[in-house]
Amino acid sequence: MNIFRISLLLLLSATLAAQSVTPQARAIHNSAIVVDTHADTPQRFLYENFDIANSDPKDIGHVSLDRARAGNLCAEFFSIWADPETTSGHFAKSTFDMIDSVYEQAARHPDRMMMAFSVADIERAHKEKKLAALMGIEGGHSIENDIHLLHDYYRLGVRYMTLSWSNTNEWADSSGDIDDPKIQHHNGLTDFGKHVVLEMNRLGMMVDISHVADKTFFDAIAATKAPVIASHSSARALTNHPRNMTDDMLRVLAKNGGVVQANFYSAFIDENYRKAAEAQQKDADAAIAAHLADLKAAGKPITYLDKDQIEREWAAKIPRPPLKSLIDHIDHIAKVAGVDHVGLGSDFDGVSGAVPEGIDSAADLPKITQALLDRGYSEKDIHKILGGNLLRVFSEVERVSREMQAEASRISTSQ
Ligand SMILES: [Zn+2]
Repeated sequence: MNIFRISLLLLLSATLAAQSVTPQARAIHNSAIVVDTHADTPQRFLYENFDIANSDPKDIGHVSLDRARAGNLCAEFFSIWADPETTSGHFAKSTFDMIDSVYEQAARHPDRMMMAFSVADIERAHKEKKLAALMGIEGGHSIENDIHLLHDYYRLGVRYMTLSWSNTNEWADSSGDIDDPKIQHHNGLTDFGKHVVLEMNRLGMMVDISHVADKTFFDAIAATKAPVIASHSSARALTNHPRNMTDDMLRVLAKNGGVVQANFYSAFIDENYRKAAEAQQKDADAAIAAHLADLKAAGKPITYLDKDQIEREWAAKIPRPPLKSLIDHIDHIAKVAGVDHVGLGSDFDGVSGAVPEGIDSAADLPKITQALLDRGYSEKDIHKILGGNLLRVFSEVERVSREMQAEASRISTSQ
């Protein structure tokens, strides 16, 4: 064999190794309770009439029952998101509609999917081999500054709330517009915002600091009595995006006992991709604005789909980053915060297809296990990353809630 053929063979086997999952990695992956804390699939349920039992291999989505099964995904936190622009004036209605869309899917497929509201529910779904459907509200504007709505959302099963989305609301600053002088900011969380955090602790709803401005993060950490989560955030030291967390924030979150669930979005995990996306942002925004203006002029309703379609076209102009970029982020968070404080928060179905090579849907999650194994992670640590850490934090949030409620009833009976 000549040197050319040998190197060709080596290259081939390296490519295959990068894409295939060994029986050992598969066994480690399949014995874990795998939890993903962020998928935007409810927008598909609501606006596309997408059915989660869809089995079309050409479907562009990341999450379906088949794909969850293929990737041994046990629990998905479905994102409940009210678009601050298109649903302005009726955030609560939009939030309720999206919650309903998740319940409707679970009702259609009771043999393969169940609503889940607790760690115990996730464990039961795992035993019954069903997809556990949980819900997290993405953006505090959904409560319309009304603590009673927060209570209602908890009762309907919402188990985390992201304090802000990309928009600053009336009580929490967002990283998405923190540099915009036209927006009225609060230097982090207002007093009401701190009250919301404590009320979430009391209810047993996880406090999610993804999307918030840095000062909001530190205010939330100071206010909370329970560990917090970053449901879908990556590391700023590797990819310089304000949506990502600095090493300082990672260490503070670890001290709080919380968990950072790494986001898969290409612009958050790969500096080359981020720069390319930033360079075309103006043109992409202009194309979207022109399209939406056309629709408006024609009197047509506007949904996320109209934006998504154009965003997909622009995203496709930039090459997908390698899977290595995502693994680098998981590895970095594990090194800086500790292996007990990192997990998976894919942002599936919310990033217009911009995810790393090899990760085309939830079915590809075992490739992450393979990559972690290749980097020397133990089975025990891989299980923590795949879901164990999130379950620990969720349990702790449940325990703090029980304690706060017991304390409140002790005080009221002693009066
Ligand atoms: Zn998000």
